[in-house]
Amino acid sequence: MNAYVNPVSGIEVLSPVSRSNSKLEAFLRSTSFDRPTLVLDIDQVRRQYRGLKAGLGRADIHYAVKANPAREVVEALIAEGSHFDAASRGEIELCLSLGAAPETISFGNTVKRASDIAFAHMAGIDLFAADADQELDKIAEHAPGAQVYIRLLVGATGADWPLSRKFGCAPEEAVRLMDYAVSLGLRPVGLSFHVGSQTRRAEMWAETLDQVALVWDRARAAGHALHLLNIGGGFPAFYGEEIEHPTLYAGRVMDMVEARFEGAERVMAEPGRGMVAEAGMIAAEVLLVSRKQQDDLHRWVYLDIGKFSGLAETMEEAIRYQFTTDRDDEEMAPCILAGPSCDSADVLYEKRPVQLPVGLKAGDRFLIRNCGAYTSSYSSVGFNGFPPLDVVVI
Ligand SMILES: *Cc1c(COP(=O)(O)O)cnc(C)c1O
Repeated sequence: MNAYVNPVSGIEVLSPVSRSNSKLEAFLRSTSFDRPTLVLDIDQVRRQYRGLKAGLGRADIHYAVKANPAREVVEALIAEGSHFDAASRGEIELCLSLGAAPETISFGNTVKRASDIAFAHMAGIDLFAADADQELDKIAEHAPGAQVYIRLLVGATGADWPLSRKFGCAPEEAVRLMDYAVSLGLRPVGLSFHVGSQTRRAEMWAETLDQVALVWDRARAAGHALHLLNIGGGFPAFYGEEIEHPTLYAGRVMDMVEARFEGAERVMAEPGRGMVAEAGMIAAEVLLVSRKQQDDLHRWVYLDIGKFSGLAETMEEAIRYQFTTDRDDEEMAPCILAGPSCDSADVLYEKRPVQLPVGLKAGDRFLIRNCGAYTSSYSSVGFNGFPPLDVVVI
């Protein structure tokens, strides 16, 4: 692997050069598209699975399907031996229809439709997440006797795309929910959490794991024979800032897990972004370059793709994609980057403008790197008449 030790941080990282994908680049250079298109290198997904698995060791990988639900991705991951985390009937059906065994699918959404729970139960899925009484009621009714794990709300961790307070119960509630699950005839088997998406450094997990381990020990002391720890996602992708090699990163996280969780016979990890982001590149086009006034400092660059057609993660400029044009050897200057739709929210980067070639023109090819995660799945069906993001798998 093309890794080196950063002399400042002392961390072994992948050099940015090793993160360029010549297969994708060659394909994109020789192909023209009539609409924004995500091109996915399926071999890169396989490499990433193997890299993560090598570090995660005995943990099962449950790929978070929402990151990229392309059937080729799911098929390739089934062949690699991956398990899956699904959030809805649709994702479960996708995995089952491509041959995933029901025992390898967890239903990890804590906000499930009752009829989806019933469907999952009928299909043979036996592992459900919950973080509230009413969710346990639904599971007990529609999947009687199922295994459940309680999702914990964990404190802010410094992730680039934090998951806020939407999911998980307060740590103090976990044991009570497990008691309640038992009273409903369910089997509380473990805990889950999500450290926050795009957690760039493995050491950022330590505090969260400490919080979760306290609850783990408390629940076991209260008589719950927990054996399942679901460490969720958070594995980072390369967006320009150095990150560790996936195997090293995953290995460090697992070392921290092993040091903290006694009796965790089964460990699950749910990478989404970390599995697929670097396998994808979007071919887009510049539709317009303009200035509001002749002497404005910044140009506005409008693309044929925006927040509603795949680039939703630019919300609050959280995820900063990297771009390639055919003029990257020219002089660069700061630009405000925007999408094509007639919605003023469809501005991608304005607070922190992006450096783009001064010669950039309408009609130029515009490549967006490492965007295989949370792009095609976030694309609207056709807001303003713009087609949803097309996906081509090579
Ligand atoms: C979205 C999600 C993931 C994937 O998170 P990433 O940060 O993309 O790896 C994992 N687990 C659950 C429950 C999720 O909702």
